Amino acid sequence: MNQVTAPSSDQKTTRVNLLDFDRQGLRDFFVQIGEKPYRAEQVMKWIYHDLEDNFENMTDVGKALRAKLTEVCYIGVPKTVLDKAATDGTHKWLLGMDSGNAIETVYIPEPTRGTLCVSSQIGCALNCSFCSTGAQGFNRNLSTAEIIGQVWVAAKHLGNITHQNRRITNVVMMGMGEPLANFENVVRAMKLMRDDLGFGLAAKRVTLSTAGMVPLIDQLSAAIDVSLAVSLHAANDELRTELVPINKRYPIAELVAACQRWVARKPRTSITFEYTLMKGINDQPEHARQLIKLMRKLPTCKVNLIPFNPFPGTRYERSDANDIRDFQTQLLNAGVLTMLRRTRGDDIDAACGQLAGQVADRTRRSADVRKRQGEGATHAI
Ligand code: SAH
Repeated sequence: MNQVTAPSSDQKTTRVNLLDFDRQGLRDFFVQIGEKPYRAEQVMKWIYHDLEDNFENMTDVGKALRAKLTEVCYIGVPKTVLDKAATDGTHKWLLGMDSGNAIETVYIPEPTRGTLCVSSQIGCALNCSFCSTGAQGFNRNLSTAEIIGQVWVAAKHLGNITHQNRRITNVVMMGMGEPLANFENVVRAMKLMRDDLGFGLAAKRVTLSTAGMVPLIDQLSAAIDVSLAVSLHAANDELRTELVPINKRYPIAELVAACQRWVARKPRTSITFEYTLMKGINDQPEHARQLIKLMRKLPTCKVNLIPFNPFPGTRYERSDANDIRDFQTQLLNAGVLTMLRRTRGDDIDAACGQLAGQVADRTRRSADVRKRQGEGATHAI
């Protein structure tokens, strides 16, 4: 663990943060300040390829324009509060937001790729019963700059070079928050991840994960080309509503229909269904049978099994290794493409569902949880 100095940014001025714009927005902004739109692209390349946050170092931008930019805008990236590395190479950054809030971003290196797990909100309003972010309550949406800024900060720390020495080959919107609940900012940030003058990642390498906000799944497929992951966790409505309460509003049949529409619009893509295995809750042969039946309706899609990651105060436990293996075998035998996600970064609490950050909770949920824990109840929510 080591303290890292924050890149400078001046949040208090009325100047515009250039990280809030996608390419079109940046071109429009340059026109607005009386400059040629191609200048926007020049600056964009400096920001995302060279990870430059100081206009003075942009050598192919004229002196007068550099001075003008310094006056009207800035390149503001999140402050690094803490930089932690796990023994398995996983990296976690705690990034300071406002009034005591902080969010987490995690980097997971593997032999053939490096995945960055990015947050979309401070806390989360969806209240999934097995997720530590949910137990923290909700504070606010992140801005586009705060979302793409996570990739920028990680890239800078890792010495990433776009189109050359890529350390970050994949980005997954699987950190804190429900990305579809912060639709505009998330889409704009993902445009920057995909843009050649941004981080230049292919559609299959940028994944949005949702707990199942059905109408927004349709909107997403119209707005941008990215990959989709859906947090399923149970294939019957009663259990899924207990685990993922938004299932009450958008039950499984509607979710499956939205996924079928997604696949129909993007025939060459597949959807990954995330299924966190919790001991005695959703890991029995009958649950696998229900999941197999559901997957028959989406034959090109696959399942990603995640062993539950415990956190303080949770009532759930990780499934036994035997049950996890049997569950996977049952799915594979039925012809469902099923992967088992290895748990990474446990020693720095960087595993799935452990991203807690520091959330000044506006929903008072965390206070309620603490109160109930104090009363001796084992239920997290
Ligand atoms: N809100 C989005 C993004 C969060 S992604 C979504 O629900 O998809 C984080 C993934 O980790 C989700 O699939 C989530 O259900 C899963 N998860 C949450 N808590 C977990 C835990 N304690 N152990 C394992 N997986 C967990």
